Amino acid sequence: MGAIQLYARAGAQFDERVAHAVAVLQSAASEHAGAIVQATSLGAEDMVLTDLIARHQLPIALATLDTGKLHAQTLALIPRIESRYGLPVERHVPVQEQVLQFVRQYGEEPMFRSIELRKACCDLRKLQPLARMLAARSAWVTGLRREQSANRGEVPFHERDGAGRIKFNPLADWSWNDVWHYIATHDVPYNDLHDQFFPSIGCEPCTRAIAVGEDFRAGRWWWEDEKAKECGLHVAKSNEESPA
Ligand code: SF4
Repeated sequence: MGAIQLYARAGAQFDERVAHAVAVLQSAASEHAGAIVQATSLGAEDMVLTDLIARHQLPIALATLDTGKLHAQTLALIPRIESRYGLPVERHVPVQEQVLQFVRQYGEEPMFRSIELRKACCDLRKLQPLARMLAARSAWVTGLRREQSANRGEVPFHERDGAGRIKFNPLADWSWNDVWHYIATHDVPYNDLHDQFFPSIGCEPCTRAIAVGEDFRAGRWWWEDEKAKECGLHVAKSNEESPA
C-alpha cells in the first residue's frame, strides 16, 4: 500500500489551511520580491509548497541542497519538478575540494563515529551550501510542520532564522494527512521512498524506513539522542547559541 492510500485524508478545515498557506506565500512573495527562495528538501511537504508556488505563479525561486549523499529517488525528483512546472530548481552543492579532504581524513561514513563528526558533515554538505543559497536573499520558505517532532511543536508561520532572515513555514499547522490529501488531490509528484515507509527523507546514510508506531522522524539520525536530531538548518534567532 502506498503513501497516498495510507495517509491521504482531509482533516476538518482543510480548505482553510490551504487558503492560509497560500496567503502566507503571497504575502511573503510580495514583501520579499526577488529575494525569496523555497529551500526544498524534496520531501512531501516541500512538494506541496512547490505546487502551491507554481499553481499561484508566485515569484519565489526553488532551490535544493544536493549534499552528494542523496538517494537516487530524491535526485530523480529534480527533473520531474522542472518538467511538470516549467520552473528551474537551483542545486547548491558542497565545495568538492573540502568534501574530498573530509572524506580522506574521516572516511565515507564519519557520522556514525561521533555527533561532532556528524555535525561537521552536515556543516560541510548542508549548512555551507544553504548559506550560499540564502546569501543574496532576505527570506526563505520551508515545509516545517509542528507535528513533525517534539522539537518542532511550536513552529510559527514566520520567524527569524539565526542570521536574521525571515523564514516562512506556511504548512506549520498542517497534518501529515493534509499533506497527502493535497498530493492526491492535485496529483503532485513525490519521492518514491515515501511509498517505502520513509516519511522524512534526508541523506542516504542517515535515513531509514520507520516501523508502525514509530515517531515521524525516527528514521533520521536514529542512532543519536532525540535532542541532537536536527542538522542545524532550522536554528531560530532566539536559540542560535544552542542549535538543537
Ligand atoms: S545528513 Fe548525514 S550524510 Fe547528510 S550531511 Fe548530515 S551527516 Fe552528512
